[in-house]
Amino acid sequence: MSKQYYTTIGLEIHAELNTNSKMFCGCKNDPDEIKPNVNICPVCMAHPGTLPVINKKAVESVIKVGLALGANIADFTEFDRKNYFYPDIPKAYQISQYKYPIVKGGSLKGVDITRVHLEEDTATSKHDRGDYSLVDFNRAGVPLMELVTEPVIHSAKEAGDFGRELQILLRYLGVSEANMEKGQMRVELNISISEDPKVFGTKVEVKNINSFRAMERAALYETKRMTELLEEGRGDEIVQETRGWDENKQSTFSQRSKENANDYRYFPDPDLPKLFLNKIFDIEKMRSELPELPETRRNRYRNNYGIKDEDIESYILDEKLGTWFEEVANILKNKDLIKTASNYITSDYLGLKKINSEVQLPHVKNFAELINMVSEDKVSSRGAKDILAFIVLKDESPLKIATEKGLIQNHDEGALKEIVQKVIDANPAVVETYKGGKENAIMSLVGQVMKESKGSANPQMVQKLLKELLK
Ligand code: ADP
Ligand code: MG
Ligand code: ZN
Repeated sequence: MSKQYYTTIGLEIHAELNTNSKMFCGCKNDPDEIKPNVNICPVCMAHPGTLPVINKKAVESVIKVGLALGANIADFTEFDRKNYFYPDIPKAYQISQYKYPIVKGGSLKGVDITRVHLEEDTATSKHDRGDYSLVDFNRAGVPLMELVTEPVIHSAKEAGDFGRELQILLRYLGVSEANMEKGQMRVELNISISEDPKVFGTKVEVKNINSFRAMERAALYETKRMTELLEEGRGDEIVQETRGWDENKQSTFSQRSKENANDYRYFPDPDLPKLFLNKIFDIEKMRSELPELPETRRNRYRNNYGIKDEDIESYILDEKLGTWFEEVANILKNKDLIKTASNYITSDYLGLKKINSEVQLPHVKNFAELINMVSEDKVSSRGAKDILAFIVLKDESPLKIATEKGLIQNHDEGALKEIVQKVIDANPAVVETYKGGKENAIMSLVGQVMKESKGSANPQMVQKLLKELLK
């Protein structure tokens, strides 16, 4: 029988802050600049004799993150030099924070945070030219926040949930676009396996992760790899090392073992002033001015509207959609109507949006009118979907459209009976099948009546009439 193994995960997450200028110089911080070496100056190109100046906005952003995490904001903080050589860091050190980070503690989704600190991003090397490499300094010196969690995550899913929640939080706070594909958010996964939940196993660190999905896969892959080694009695082959995630092979590979790990020889950067944050910022004022956070919003939606958790997540992910939904809910007021509205938004509206990028949110009044019309049976749900598909491209009154297109439901039995009879007469074969016991055949007749009435008939009434006339 195989033993039980426990997985432990800690994450190190970097996020580029969306300040106007870079961390220590006045260069433009523009992640979308594709022309190399445009946003550069002697400071971010590491020319000797230049002096860095701290970007206040970047410090403020990290404080906001700390406040949102319920963490301690340091009174005293300073920047350190992290010494190492690499072509993308020609100063031979990166300005980072070591002993006195801006933020310590806090938590998110039940995951304890160790620290959040501020550093500068590096340049980017391009190795796609054959026998030489190029370095682009546009990214050098962009403010980079690093968040480290405690080793308290125990599954791939939990790790993914944490990462996604942090991404949403950074966006709500407006401090980072946090787009993983663009490298604005980068995740390193630390993971270990052990037989005893109270004792940590040897950890490996996985890099080159370019999505939360990849992070989850890497965690599952490593769990399996290390579990198998332990089960085969080859536990000594699990070594503390850095591994890379290979997206094509969906596996990890060894990159660097602990023996060649760097000793960064951190020391306080003598070119930068030490900061007493309480003297520079009104922290309590900043706390009171935080925007509504994702979790608060989630709870409010749950309590106020009684809609599905799945719907709530759509509104949390897309803040603008969530606000629009709330405006609709304020008009509708009635809980059943609000639930109907939410169904139309999350399945129909988002469905339309997925296939056509020109789809836009209609005016809340028009959308609320549409929901009222369905609930009063003025239009069928089929008709409502057609109207919705129309107003997301050309915003107009649903009542006007329904009238023009003849979608107002016909509750006049007499008129409907005529159409039903016509369809029966035109489809003797289907009628025979139905009468022969295949009750489902009636649906084809219902469909034809609906078509004939241009969607204006009430399907329940059509079915009732058909059954009566076919007795
Ligand atoms: P290092 O000095 O190797 O960088 P740290 O103690 O700074 O290690 O931790 C880096 C990250 O690794 C943190 O997110 C931490 O939670 C995580 N971590 C530490 N030990 C383990 C472990 N045994 N298993 C999984 N994650 C761990
Ligand atoms: Mg570390
Ligand atoms: Zn610069």
